This record gives sequence, C-alpha cells and structure tokens, in this order.
Amino acid sequence: MFSTMQDGTLTTARILAQGSGPHGTAEVVTWTGDGARRSDYAEVGRRVARLANALRALGVTGDQRVGTFMWNNAEHLEAYFAVPSMGAVLHTLNIRLFPEQIVYVADHAEDRVVIVDSTLLPLFAKILPQLGTVRHVVVVGGGSLEAPEGVEVHDYEALLAAQPDEFDWPELDERSAAAMCYTSGTTGNPKGVVYSHRSIYLHSMQVCMTDGMALSQADRALAVVPMFHAMSWGLPYAAFLVGSSLIMPDRFLQPEPLTHMIAAERPTFAAAVPTIWQGVLQHLEQDPQDMSSLREVVVGGSACPPSLMRAFHDRYGIPVLHAWGMTETSPLGSVARPPAGATGDELWAYRSSQGRVPAGVEARLVGDDGSVLPWDGSSVGELEVRGPWIAGAYYQEDDPEKFHDGWLRTGDVGHISPDGFLRLTDRAKDVIKSGGEWISSVELENHVMSHPAVAEAVVIGVPDEKWDERPLVAVVLREGQRATAEELSEFLAGRVAKWQLPEHWTFVAETPKTSVGKFDKKRLRQQHSQGELD
Ligand code: ADP
Repeated sequence: MFSTMQDGTLTTARILAQGSGPHGTAEVVTWTGDGARRSDYAEVGRRVARLANALRALGVTGDQRVGTFMWNNAEHLEAYFAVPSMGAVLHTLNIRLFPEQIVYVADHAEDRVVIVDSTLLPLFAKILPQLGTVRHVVVVGGGSLEAPEGVEVHDYEALLAAQPDEFDWPELDERSAAAMCYTSGTTGNPKGVVYSHRSIYLHSMQVCMTDGMALSQADRALAVVPMFHAMSWGLPYAAFLVGSSLIMPDRFLQPEPLTHMIAAERPTFAAAVPTIWQGVLQHLEQDPQDMSSLREVVVGGSACPPSLMRAFHDRYGIPVLHAWGMTETSPLGSVARPPAGATGDELWAYRSSQGRVPAGVEARLVGDDGSVLPWDGSSVGELEVRGPWIAGAYYQEDDPEKFHDGWLRTGDVGHISPDGFLRLTDRAKDVIKSGGEWISSVELENHVMSHPAVAEAVVIGVPDEKWDERPLVAVVLREGQRATAEELSEFLAGRVAKWQLPEHWTFVAETPKTSVGKFDKKRLRQQHSQGELD
C-alpha cells in the first residue's frame, strides 16, 4: 500500500523561497580587495527573478544549458538559483582548465548562454571564438568583448534592470537536471556529472546536519572552495536552505586577502582544499590576523595532513573537520566527526580519517578479485558508493569502468573500521607499487609534512628497474628554513618501515597544482620523466 503522505517537490526553487523569504536578512558579502559589496537574501531573491526573466527573454527554454565563467560572488549565487529554478541547467565552467578543455566541456554540454565575470574577460575572449553552441554572453561588472558572428554580448546589470523582480517558477520534476559539473579529468576528457533538483536538495540537508557540516542560520560561511569545484561543496544551496550568511572571496584567494577577509568579515565556518589552508597558516606566521570567529574549518578534496589539523588546533584553537568527496558525490561523501568520548591519540586518529558516510551514502570495499571486503579496519580495497546524491552515470558518455552493479567506483583505496570510519590510504593510481608491496604516497607525504622545515611534500612513484617503482619526494621548504634529504630521511626513518624510505628527493620552489588546487601528481610525473626535477 502507498503512504498517505504528500510528495512535495524537492527543488532549488523551494530552497530559494526559504532563503529569500524567512531568511531574507541573511547576508551575502562579496570581497572586493579593499572592502566588500553587501546584499541580503531577500535582495538576491529579487535579482534571481530578474535574471530568470532576462534569460527567458534571451530565448532560454526547457533544459538548455547556461554556463558560468565566474569567481565566487553574489552574481554567481544568483545564477545558481535562477538557472535551475526556471528549469534550465546550470553549468559551472572551471576557469582554470586548459582552454581546449574548456572548449570541450562547453561544447559537450551545449552551453547556449555563458555568464562571465569582467575580470575573466581576457581569458574568455580567447576561448569564445571556438565555442560552437554559445549564442549569448552576459558580462558581469562591465567591460567590452568582441563578439564573433552569431553571438550577442549583454551587460548583466542592464539585462536585470529591464526585468520584473518576480518570476512564475515552473513546477519541475525533482529528478530533472538542475546543474552540471565536469570532473577535472585527470585521465582522458573531463566527464559531466548532472545533479538533479532532488539530489541537490537532499545533499543540502546533509550538509546542514549536525554531524555533517552543521551549517545553521547562526553561521557566516566563507566559501573559499570555488563554485566551479563540485558546486562549492554544496555550500550556496545549503546556506540558503537554513539561512547562513555567505562570504564570497571573488578572485581574492591568496593567503593575504583571505586572512584579512576572515578578520574583517568574521566567518564562523570556512571550507577549502588543504593547499589553501597550508598557505593561510604560513602567512599568519608573518602577518597575524584575528581568526577567532571560526568555529570550524572544513578541509577536503585531498587528504588533510594531520600536521595541518594540529596547527589549526594548537595555534588558533580551531577544529578542522576532514571531509571526503568527489564531483560525482555532490560532493559530500563522508566527514570525520569523532565518536563521543574519544580523547587523546584516539581522537586525533578519528579526526584525520576520512570519517563516516551518512545514511544517504552506502559504502563498500571491493578487493582486486571483486569480492566485497569486511569492515574490520584492516582489509584494504577500492571504495564504492551509491545513494541519492551519487552519480549513476556520466552525461552522454559511457564509462563502464567507473560503475559497478549500480555502485560508483571511486578509485580510492582504503579500509573501514567496524564503527564505520573510512581511512583512505591512497588513490589507486597514486599508490606506489614497490617489489610487490604497496607504499601509500599520502602516508609518506603526511610524515614529511610534519617536519617543521617543510611547507609541502608531494610523493609519486618513479620507475625502478629492480622494484618496478620507488617513491620520489618533492619538497617545498618553509621560508627561511633549511633541511637536507639526509635529515628528512632520518626524520622519516622512525616513522615508516625501512623498505618504504624514499631514496629520491628533490627540492622545488613550488609544487604543481591542479585546476582546483590539489597536488598535481600527473604533472609531477611528467616533470620527472622529462628530467625537469633533478
Ligand atoms: P579530481 O578527481 O579531478 O581531483 P574531484 O574533486 O572530484 O576531482 O576529486 C575527488 C577525489 O579527491 C577523490 O576520489 C579522492 O581521491 C580525493 N579526495 C577528496 N577528498 C579527500 C580526502 N578527504 N582524503 C583523501 N582524498 C580525498
């Protein structure tokens, strides 16, 4: 028998109504370098309606794709709500991809309109002539752009000014496409993940749960993670759902402006990849700023070095919440909140794990032979996940390798304890295979980064005649600090098994980073094979 309950519809329009109505006084702050632009959610709601009307007037109908080529700012937030709520599909373009990859994803998604920040026009102008499906470009913040034939260029504010601030939001199927995001494509072409209204709604609720990121109306959330990186980890939608204020850094993502922004805008919560926080911590040593407003900092996107967590705790009393996820998982897959009662080393071990998956995400470990492994804290296999905010396919692209009996293969390897704590040892493609044994590149990195002279350490496997592969460590030293390969090797000796000790060390001024700020091991391998690291 069926229930007697209503369905309701889980759509972005509902999240918008909640944010711009009951939470209309929540603030959205966009950093301008020497200050901030301010608005509130009620105003955002009115401008969202204007934008939806403007896009309709440009001919956007059905599920046409509207791309964004933007930093994190109030206008990008407006696009986040206007595009899906009117039934179209938001496509956040990663501004840091190579131009040919941007062209590939915009063509693949068939973006019809692209909204562009004026500060990104020089970059966008080079790409625009190659875009096959774009008919309209809307420029935020003024500035001119030469339009190729068949493309019209519009000014964002002029478009909005001509429209009413109400929109008759359509009834949508909650399973229909709302937004899409391409994976950064470490191998092959980027692949499109298409989020539904329902997946966004359910994911936003998870972000706000106490044992998720615990976002509430009392928070001021600093979204450092770009809105083109896995939907800024769901923060814009989650913030509107519960009425947290949002602080948007725009293009000011360097340690200095970030720390000044924190001191001035007093966020209670902030989220970014580890390399950003490493930079922030280092900068604070030279230029101390008031960090006391932060109740919690979320670190994810790659393994959070335990030394980073300790530094936040010891120097600033700020807890770091370690989270794991992927573009394919919306992205929140797990968070490391230690169980009540854990103390001392046990507490730190829980916090540095990838944590527990919530009820909305099912997880299993699969061995090389395809068998499902027990959660015993030691059996190591590939993590597979499934659930209502996990991708079940890519957009117009078959990739049987990534899906397995209805589960998403994450490419991440690790074990799960009986109480559900996931500990990833590595990405399958980064594990170093040495003489039939596996060496975790992440574990070596974490140990090297706990040395006081080290700012960053990246470990890759390099070919070795006798052992197949051996670890190579690329080290960035802290400013004014010195350490030799011998000293670092000695430091490691007490911490890892002797056969795991790397014999290859290289000292570099900076390590290569991916388009979303992670250590770029693919590039480092290239640099090594081309003899650039010696
Ligand atoms: P890309 O694959 O291009 O980096 P994603 O941002 O989707 O794009 O990356 C997802 C991957 O990032 C995961 O499969 C995992 O390898 C890594 N990752 C994310 N969060 C963590 C974490 N907390 N610990 C370890 N690895 C992580």
